[in-house]
Amino acid sequence: MPELPEVEITARRLDAALRGVVVESALAPGINALKTFDPPLQAIEGAAVIGVRRIGKHIVVDLAGDLALLVHLMSAGRLQLFDKRASLRDRTSRLLIRLADGNELRLREFGTRQRAWVKVLRAEEVASDDAVATLGPEAWPDPPPLRALLGAQGARPLHGVLRDQHVVAGIGRSWVDEILWTAMLSPFKRADDLSDDEADALREACIERLGGAIEHYERVVALPIPDKLPMPLEIHRHQGEPCPRCATTIEAVHYEDYVMCYCPHDQTGGRVLKDRRLSRLLK
Ligand SMILES: [Zn+2]
Repeated sequence: MPELPEVEITARRLDAALRGVVVESALAPGINALKTFDPPLQAIEGAAVIGVRRIGKHIVVDLAGDLALLVHLMSAGRLQLFDKRASLRDRTSRLLIRLADGNELRLREFGTRQRAWVKVLRAEEVASDDAVATLGPEAWPDPPPLRALLGAQGARPLHGVLRDQHVVAGIGRSWVDEILWTAMLSPFKRADDLSDDEADALREACIERLGGAIEHYERVVALPIPDKLPMPLEIHRHQGEPCPRCATTIEAVHYEDYVMCYCPHDQTGGRVLKDRRLSRLLK
């Protein structure tokens, strides 16, 4: 699940390795990965990489010739740099960029669904691209005061609002559980029901947890970028284990394709929220 910290470390590692390196050839074996046709993918051949950066959960590869690749890893993609060419039998390959230094930048995606995507854009089109122009302010390193920003979202629960990239950019299903636990707020608290202190705690939790994860990755993540990133999660997917703060058993609410975890003692006034999966089975 690449979210802001995972995308940030990917962009940093690739930026250091790719600056100045020339693209030799580009190929998109993924059926649905390439979302644009003008400029064509081949337009980047012969262009040098200017740099690699992150916007929200997107990666931007800036290239000479006023071109850019905008990449979204979605839930199961990785952008990795290998010193060998991909095997044609690697069914995870979505985009292969062969570089003049012999390395290969590879967008790979695990699982059966093909959702990761790439756009080839003119440099000036990046900021105005729909995926970028509609993003809210970045959740790290300096998110805006959250009381007014979230208050405008009305009765929507914090757990959904914080993952809404149009409201605040960078947080997904893993880090939202960590951030809400750190701020000691219920995932189902209304977005327009935050006190000043709660909004400040939430903002601090964003900075602390996302920034802390990036510091952790700076120590442990190296190229080619591992298939499975060592996410320093304490709450998400830790249901049934003791809360690191108060030792209460961490509870979970299961949704169709993800799980939300929280500490009842710290976040919901002791209440264990209804698990929709269980209640459906019991009907
Ligand atoms: Zn606790």
